[in-house]
Amino acid sequence: MRVIGLHSGVLVATSRIWQTTCTIVRGGADDAAGAGARAAGPDAQPGPRAGECFVIDSPVLPDELELLPAVLERAGFQCRGLLATHADWDHLLGRLAFPGVALGVSETTAARLAAEPGVAARELRDFDDEHYVERAAPLSLGQVQALPVPGHCEIGDEELELHPADGHTADGMAIWIGWARVLVAGDYVSPVEVPMIAAGGSRDGYLATLRRLEPLVDAAAYVVPGHGEVLQGARAAAILREDVNYLAKLPDAELPLARRSPAQREVHAANVRRVRAAS
Ligand SMILES: [Zn+2]
Repeated sequence: MRVIGLHSGVLVATSRIWQTTCTIVRGGADDAAGAGARAAGPDAQPGPRAGECFVIDSPVLPDELELLPAVLERAGFQCRGLLATHADWDHLLGRLAFPGVALGVSETTAARLAAEPGVAARELRDFDDEHYVERAAPLSLGQVQALPVPGHCEIGDEELELHPADGHTADGMAIWIGWARVLVAGDYVSPVEVPMIAAGGSRDGYLATLRRLEPLVDAAAYVVPGHGEVLQGARAAAILREDVNYLAKLPDAELPLARRSPAQREVHAANVRRVRAAS
């Protein structure tokens, strides 16, 4: 697992499986004790919020999840909660690293999780069986908190902006970290994956989400895709344009040049079937 810093309060860990990303975001740009101490005088204790962070999405492999608490500790961050961009199982594993905290998701994702109880745990088990991966415990999502989207989510003395992001699936949100100009996009704008219209998703929904994300991508220093390396804003904007073009031309679209592997051709074939079935 690779961990890089995008900002003093934003770290991104990338899994060895599917380059799945996990973004760790701490509220406020100052060091943990600094802000509270300055505001209240030299004798003040750092507030209970010092160093609080959210962990957005998750790496996949057990050793990567085991390492996450140490990554936070080294940075001086404390996990206040988990967030997931959508309900696909590979983004929901934060619970295995931080069992005690709440998991915040968009209302659409909460509805999907409630409508398909146990599916994420079963799909994780299937993946583990196929790849001979052993885990200490099965996945149990625990307390899930539905967040209004569009909306805001407070962290320290800052706020995350939550934007609807459906179309890949029926659910989801993208997260804008305004003070760091970082967009956590969920499964959109990926350098390694073509747009994937999965079960519950739709071409129109996907295109609407890309149009919604476009101004954020244009304003972003960095975009964190659900899969693949962190992108600088200009490169993400170019991928977004490629993806709009690809989706608009389905079912006759050509695959973007950099995303023509056998696996991506399979995703494309499934997209073509779904778009034909919907028309
Ligand atoms: Zn994914």
